[in-house]
Amino acid sequence: MSNNSMTLTQAIAWASEQCESSDSAQLDAKVLLLHVLKKPQSYLYAWSDSKLTVDQQQLFEALIERRKQGYPVAHLTGEREFWSLPLSVRPSTLIPRPDTETLVEVVLELKLDDNIRLLDLGTGTGAIALALASENPSWQVIGVDRVQDAVELARYNSEKLGIKVEFLQSNWFSAISDQQFDIIVSNPPYIDEQDPHLNEGDVRFEPLSALTAATNGFQDFIDIAKSAKKHLTEGGYLVFEHGYQQAPKLAELLTEMGYQEIDCHQDLAGNPRVTIARWL
Ligand code: GLN
Repeated sequence: MSNNSMTLTQAIAWASEQCESSDSAQLDAKVLLLHVLKKPQSYLYAWSDSKLTVDQQQLFEALIERRKQGYPVAHLTGEREFWSLPLSVRPSTLIPRPDTETLVEVVLELKLDDNIRLLDLGTGTGAIALALASENPSWQVIGVDRVQDAVELARYNSEKLGIKVEFLQSNWFSAISDQQFDIIVSNPPYIDEQDPHLNEGDVRFEPLSALTAATNGFQDFIDIAKSAKKHLTEGGYLVFEHGYQQAPKLAELLTEMGYQEIDCHQDLAGNPRVTIARWL
């Protein structure tokens, strides 16, 4: 246990050392400290020599202890920023990833009309649907998730941020009846069930149902792409986030199913991450 009068600088140094097994130890320490202080990032620099109160220090130490046990920072703060939107996060859903912002960018680059209808399958926190609706308030955006707790969380985020999206509980298309969309997007579970990375790091604390899929991670792509045909307007787009090694096989599957104009985009790290296909 540290002494009772750490400055902010000392608190970050102490916590970074405690969390050294995390590959983002210093960032984790700063985010958790700001959460305790309830302040914006600039506060750390402006007030680096100010001291924590006893209560603040106790709370900070408790959070660092949980982080050392492996709990994701987003679960400890209850929040993660995605597309500059502060989204509430719960253990029942996937924590939004920076990689998924690539999907948002790719959809925006399509320069679709003002009045299109968009469906986000497996919306989780609502990240993709909310980001796209925030950029295009005139789009009709629906987000669905099989998990009721995720639907409630996404609705909460929508109200908190004042972004209009309709969120529904639906097992892929089960509650969509015969509705059609100009674009269907999804970041479905796509990790192979045997992937050893599932036993490491933050993913251990996320629901497997949001991470893994049968058939080497491809089963949900297959199920969605098959059903999406009857829910896409003519020329409509199907957009998937996928694993960095899945692009060639996914393109093959989509071609077999009759999709056209298949195009893959890279994420910020240069990995093939998002595939678009059209139903013509
Ligand atoms: N990209 C995520 C990860 O690697 C997986 C997300 C998903 O399965 N949709 O942890």
